[in-house]
Amino acid sequence: MPELPEVEIVRQSLNKKIKGSFIKKVLVKNRNLRFKVPFNFENILKNQKILEVDRFSKYLLLHLSNNSVCLIHLGMSGTIHLVKKNNKNLITNMSFYQHPILPKKHNHIIIFFDDFKVIYNDPRRFGFFEIIKNHSLLKKRFKKFGPEPFSIKFNLRYIFSFLKNKEKNIKNFLLDQKFVSGIGNIYASEILFQSKILPNKKAKYLSKNECKKILIYSKKVLIDAVRKGGSSIRDFKGISGKKGKFQKEFRVYDREGLNCKRSRCNGTIKKKIISKRSSFFCNFCQK
Ligand SMILES: [Zn+2]
Repeated sequence: MPELPEVEIVRQSLNKKIKGSFIKKVLVKNRNLRFKVPFNFENILKNQKILEVDRFSKYLLLHLSNNSVCLIHLGMSGTIHLVKKNNKNLITNMSFYQHPILPKKHNHIIIFFDDFKVIYNDPRRFGFFEIIKNHSLLKKRFKKFGPEPFSIKFNLRYIFSFLKNKEKNIKNFLLDQKFVSGIGNIYASEILFQSKILPNKKAKYLSKNECKKILIYSKKVLIDAVRKGGSSIRDFKGISGKKGKFQKEFRVYDREGLNCKRSRCNGTIKKKIISKRSSFFCNFCQK
């Protein structure tokens, strides 16, 4: 499932390729995504210039010249492909987490530009598209979302006062979009490992120093992932499958039973279902 770093990498590649281009035509082959593709979707996008490809949390935002915004959520399995005219091999990859060649099935939406097309593929159809008419509605759309880890609003005072007296565990809060936007299950485990905090620790028991670690590592883990993912785009051809470079560098995620990677720690990585999601942690160095 694409998490914030993967979405950010798609944003960067997409912005490089389509910013300033005009949409010629849109073809919706299947409207039945997680939510129905808006009925006037094709007409709203047609003839629009892409001003910028932006991102909030795990949402891609295509800013259009008619002031509206096309919002894309990749769901569980959504990928975006860019196919150039006369490209016989259909090498399309925008990101490391997808196969470099356009799949034959599940290409639900095609956006045509002058000499290329952008294709939305989604086998599980959990992704969706929305049209937001203008910027004040966009603000409203994300009103209930907490700040992103990179935002200045996500600071020590905010974290400490949000979490104090809270009974729920800290892992739960890292996944709670009202507290912080864009941290998914994989990175929540990584952040807590780096912070040396057990995922099932009640939020109210976190010290100020632990909150500070959460602040620092929420930013660091995500920024590192974007950076490593970014570097794996360039040598993507050497990677055949779905895994990008940084996914092999997880410290705890998917490492159940293996030795803890922290130097001088003799712990073993454990897996536990916490609030219905699998959590990975070292029960030796995480307290
Ligand atoms: Zn350890």
